[in-house]
Amino acid sequence: MRIQQIVKRIRTRSFDRVFLRVRSIFQRYGFKPNRYCTNLFEMIELCLKYKIHPTFPVTASVVKRHPEIFKEAQDLGVEFAVHGLKHIDYTQLPDRDVMQHAQKAIDIFNLHGINTCGFRYPYLRSNAHIVEVLKCTGYSWDSSNAIVWTGVKQEQFNSKIWDNYQNILNTYEATKFCNTKCLPEINDNFIHLPVSVPDDDILIERLELKDNSAITNILYQMLEEHYKKESLFILQLHPERFVYFKTALENILKEAMNRGTIWMASLNEISSWWKKRSEFRFKFENAAQNWELANMSDKPCNLEVWQAGERIVSDLSHKWTANYMPAIAVNANQKEQWLSTIKNSGYSYILDTNLNDAAVQLPENVSKITSELLDEIVKNSSEKILKLANWPSGKKSCIAVSGDIDGIDLIDFWERFRGN
Ligand SMILES: [Zn+2]
Repeated sequence: MRIQQIVKRIRTRSFDRVFLRVRSIFQRYGFKPNRYCTNLFEMIELCLKYKIHPTFPVTASVVKRHPEIFKEAQDLGVEFAVHGLKHIDYTQLPDRDVMQHAQKAIDIFNLHGINTCGFRYPYLRSNAHIVEVLKCTGYSWDSSNAIVWTGVKQEQFNSKIWDNYQNILNTYEATKFCNTKCLPEINDNFIHLPVSVPDDDILIERLELKDNSAITNILYQMLEEHYKKESLFILQLHPERFVYFKTALENILKEAMNRGTIWMASLNEISSWWKKRSEFRFKFENAAQNWELANMSDKPCNLEVWQAGERIVSDLSHKWTANYMPAIAVNANQKEQWLSTIKNSGYSYILDTNLNDAAVQLPENVSKITSELLDEIVKNSSEKILKLANWPSGKKSCIAVSGDIDGIDLIDFWERFRGN
């Protein structure tokens, strides 16, 4: 491990926390994999009980040392993603080296028969460059971008604990949940899946919440707010702390299942879904001066009707007409830079033809369009517009369980410390 990386790691923890961390590693890992595997397989069993397939990003060097464990878990329906070739800060490496590591990691997974198409950078440290590398290496998705739920109340913690919490959020460069939609994003056919924090490391180690009711309370509020915003809630729970969050996880999964309107999915399932949703093309027919939506049968999910920022119909299943084509007009000049944002939003759009017939015209004088600006434009339009629902089968929001696997036994930790 490079000196700068060690310094960076220590800066996010005070010295007493470094000692506590070392002690907890010895408590949760043994010289053999048994201790870790008990937690891992119990967590898998719990997820499968609630019919959700967990996704574990795992460092390829760890797969190489324990391939049989991952094969056994995969046979149970578990999904794996790559968590680096080694557990290092990839923002510190040149792109050429990052690409080599990303490729070697896939080779190791393939060699041992572990399927993978996704990636999560260690320490959630990434940037646009190294995410671009993943696209070129053949990965389908990345889940390294952290979105922090802002409901943790500062007054419940002393200043030392709170400062420590802020330090770790800074290293994640987390986006605030209140400022974003927290949805997948597709760009050049590559999917970005934002992971939600606080995770178990923050809740248990940094905020020192040891009882399950306090953890349940926070996770429940996170679930509720993601539900209200119809957004994506990817839990990040490391299997080695399973005993500490077991009850909280069960409470959340039970609630999600009982509600019936939360899609419980794996990261591969969400990535495939978002790709399929973005490929849907709205087709309209002009009949007796009214616009009708054609080819309703192949729609991937519910269609919603929006007007002046309000959803007036969800689950559009009947024949429907409008004076204007209920779509956003996108001309040839705007197509290149704006189309991926529009597709990601799910709003109906038309390209190049009959632009004046469309309900919404995009302004000419805007250099970059964001999903927030797009919402604002649609909100200010009095005409009806169609939108694809975010989730399949009438589900209102989505939850996924992920948990990074950095090592299975103490030997893995020693090798990680040595930078292997
Ligand atoms: Zn990790």
